[in-house]
Amino acid sequence: MQQSNTSAAQRILVVEDEPDIAALIAYQLTREGFRVETVESGTDALGSIYRSIPNLIILDRMLPGLSGDEVITRLRGDSETSSIPVLMLTAKREQEDRIEGFELGADDYLTKPFSPRELVLRVKAVLRRVQDAGAASGGRVLRAGPLRMDLASHRVLLEGRELILTPTEFRLLQSLMERLGRTQSRTQLLERVWSYESAISDRIQTRTVDMHVRRLRSKLGRVGEWIETVRGFGYRLMIPEGIE
Ligand code: CA
Repeated sequence: MQQSNTSAAQRILVVEDEPDIAALIAYQLTREGFRVETVESGTDALGSIYRSIPNLIILDRMLPGLSGDEVITRLRGDSETSSIPVLMLTAKREQEDRIEGFELGADDYLTKPFSPRELVLRVKAVLRRVQDAGAASGGRVLRAGPLRMDLASHRVLLEGRELILTPTEFRLLQSLMERLGRTQSRTQLLERVWSYESAISDRIQTRTVDMHVRRLRSKLGRVGEWIETVRGFGYRLMIPEGIE
């Protein structure tokens, strides 16, 4: 029999207090060759993560005790855990929550109820984004003014100070730096950064881009102003004249 476990080494932590959903997710991902650990609370999640960093976390928002939002806020605030990809789960009616979650640093969102196929596709897309950013880079370093991005080590330095970015923010900044001065539409960014295909008229996905740009700008401080909004079209990174 042929083995097709291309993702055998990848470990996924599932944080979900509803046993049926946790079991369904674990079943689907195990079938795809992932190693899956499930925990029921945010506290257990943090314990597991600090014992061994997973390749990806599936994090329910509504958890007893420490909420999903609190868990992701802690992860993003610690350089040891800030770059772990996080896929958040939310209930259907929480559209605004979805946007808030992105502000907290989730890489993607899945609304309950979701299909097993959708789950697997999203997980693979998030992991692919992270791997592409690292592996295909060949040790390249991108520069734009005082910004340096080392694609192999996945580090961004601003005037020599390391910035803590999520995997998605990293990819977004990479896309802007690789096309310095050129405008990219939100749809192009969704394809390049999120690996979404023809996401043209989905308003939520378009807002996803805006939310991530806003977060990235605030992390870049003064330099964040160089990410220009091109009204009705998209974004570009422009280095002001006189800056080397
Ligand atoms: Ca829950």
